[in-house]
Order: sequence, then C-alpha cells, then structure tokens
Amino acid sequence: MARFPVSEFKELPTPFYFYDLSLLDRTLAEIKRTARDPRFKVHYAIKANANPGILRRIQAAGFGVDAVSGGEIAAAVEAGFEGGKIVYAGVGKSDREIILALETGIECFNVESLPELEIIDELARKAGRKAPVALRVNPDIDAHTHEYITTGLAENKFGINLGQLSEIIGTAQEMDNVELRGLHFHIGSQITEIEPFILLCEKINRLVEEYEKKGIRFKSINVGGGLGIDYAEPDRHPIPDFETYFNTFRNHLKLSEGQEVHFELGRSVVAQCGSLITRVLYVKEGVTKRFAIVDAGMTELIRPALYNAHHKIENLSSPNGERHHYDIVGPICESSDCFGKDELLPAIRRGDFIALRSAGAYGEIMASQYNCRPLPPSYFSEK
Ligand SMILES: *Cc1c(COP(=O)(O)O)cnc(C)c1O
Repeated sequence: MARFPVSEFKELPTPFYFYDLSLLDRTLAEIKRTARDPRFKVHYAIKANANPGILRRIQAAGFGVDAVSGGEIAAAVEAGFEGGKIVYAGVGKSDREIILALETGIECFNVESLPELEIIDELARKAGRKAPVALRVNPDIDAHTHEYITTGLAENKFGINLGQLSEIIGTAQEMDNVELRGLHFHIGSQITEIEPFILLCEKINRLVEEYEKKGIRFKSINVGGGLGIDYAEPDRHPIPDFETYFNTFRNHLKLSEGQEVHFELGRSVVAQCGSLITRVLYVKEGVTKRFAIVDAGMTELIRPALYNAHHKIENLSSPNGERHHYDIVGPICESSDCFGKDELLPAIRRGDFIALRSAGAYGEIMASQYNCRPLPPSYFSEK
C-alpha cells in the first residue's frame, strides 16, 4: 500500500504532484536487473516526465534518453545525461532542433521521412559532421490500445511505411553526411499484452534477414517503448513486469554478432511513483448525483479529458468511512474536466485530500495554464 504523509500535506498549497522516490529507485533497479543483457540499452522517454528531481535519479541510474524535441534534448543535457546516450525521434524536427542535436553529439536521429533525412544530411554537411541515423519504420502492428496512442499502424503520421523503406535505405547509404545505424520502431503506448511485442520481434527478424541478404547490416535495432502499467490497482503492480517484457525480446529477437537493442521506456518507468494530490473544495448535491469538486482539474492532469483515461482515486483523509457514489470533478470551465463518474469512495468532506494515482507519466509534464492557473508544484517523499 502506498504511504502518503497526509499530516505534512496540510502545510502545502494544493494541488501538487507528489513523487515516491523510493518506488522510482526500486523501479529503476528492477529495469537494470531484468535488462541485464549487455546488448540491451535502455533510454528513458523523457516526454513522460521531465521533472528535474526525477531526471537526476534516472540519469544517476545510468539510463540514456529518448527525446522528441530540442527542448527535451536541452532538459536531458541540463540533468546531466551525456549527449552520446540521447536518441531523438519526432516527425517534425525543425532546422534549429537538428542543429542543436548535432552540436550535442547525440547517439542517433530516429528519422521519420525522406525529406527529413535530406535536411539532416544537408545540416550535418554545413556543421562538418556525420549524423548517426536510424530509420523509423511503421511496422503496421495493432497494439490494441486507444486510437490516439496507437502509433504503429500503416495509416499514421509516424514513421516510414514498409513499402517505401528499401528506397530510403538506398538513399541514406549514398549520403555523405549520414551514417545509417539501424532501424527504429515504436508501436504505441500503454500496451498491456505481450503479443504485440512478439509480433514486433517477428517483423523485425524478417526485415533484418531481408536486408542482410542484400548485404545491409544494422548495428542497432530500436524497439521503442510502450509497456503499460496497472492503472486500476497501482498497489497490486507498483512495478511493471519488466522481466517478461525484456525476456520477450531476449527470446524472440534474432540478433546477429555485435547488434544492439535499444529500448525507449517512458510510462512504465515513472507512472506509478507519482500522484496528483488535490483538496476537496465542495461537496455538491445534484438532483441524481453527488459531486465532489476538487481544486485540481484537467490543467494539472489532462489524461482523463484527453484520452478518457482513468486514474485510481483515493480519499487520503478518511480511507475507512462509509462509501458513497461521487462524480469527482475539477474547477475548469469544460465539461470534460472530470476525473471519475460514480466513484464509490469513503464519505468525502470539504478539505479532504484526494489522490489521483499513477500520475507520474504524462501528468505534470502535460500541465497547462488554461484559465490562467499556475503550474502545479511538486514534492518528493525524500527531501
Ligand atoms: C512516447 C514515446 C516512447 C515512450 O512511450 P511509453 O509508452 O511512455 O513507454 C518511446 N519512443 C517514442 C518514439 C515515443 O514517441
């Protein structure tokens, strides 16, 4: 059971993010234990959470970074990550961002289209450098997840379609200022079944074999991220099943001599260590419903409004009271500003602390200032 220092919360203005650093440390240790293969390189997908306190822990644990913007590259460097451990994806890399990445000496550009490859080649020439690149392939695998977070299907803005891959590989090989390192894949997010990852391995094996026959060897295979977490019962699975995840790649990917596998995990690293803590402002009796109006809204945690996601809701102030049904809603002027409908929770009173669990990934980082609200502060379990 997660422990919250509720008596200390009384001193703090709400809403805020609270991070359990001991859980983060245990999660990082488990990733290192289960990914122990020397050919495996784990990058943290910084877009999930770029809080400096979180980044420093992940950096100290020896992980690399997966960035999707120049701002993320800068945040990673600021937190102490080596440029040579940063990979950089994204369909819309601007010239300025590409130049920053070249200057930072990143490990690899994950290139998503032919015109992008041409610009990287040109900017690398001007900078007098050779840009390491991997081609992001759209593997056409259905990851059975929400349509907005599925990225691996054929009709998608991400990656290069399989039918166009061979020509682009040919072009990349002829360029003077890019070095083709490998292939990159990312099939989606919050994937809770192992089957899509097995399908991905099989697809990669076929591709790698096909190109090896043509004499093209890829040094690096990047399988992206996407491992899901238990949003329904965060205390049942505080740490995702990394053992099964990494074993799937160990057992299903056919690697040749000297080949590396790169992973880009975001949500599974940080989601469970974070909670959004909010205070109840009012309990409002409707006609058929009872509303608990809290002081956090979609400005602090947008996932419910954006993806219809559900975060487990807990009443920290009176965990054992008699249970009633509540709609838990925020103060923002949008009807989608709702964290839960008909939630069965111990009796809620004004001033109670409510936790929205599993909010460490895509929570604080997606906060906005809509309605001129300030961005939420963050606190850690250890000072
Ligand atoms: C978002 C993203 C990830 C991380 O996804 P998670 O589901 O958080 O693990 C990895 N790689 C790329 C290219 C991404 O865009």
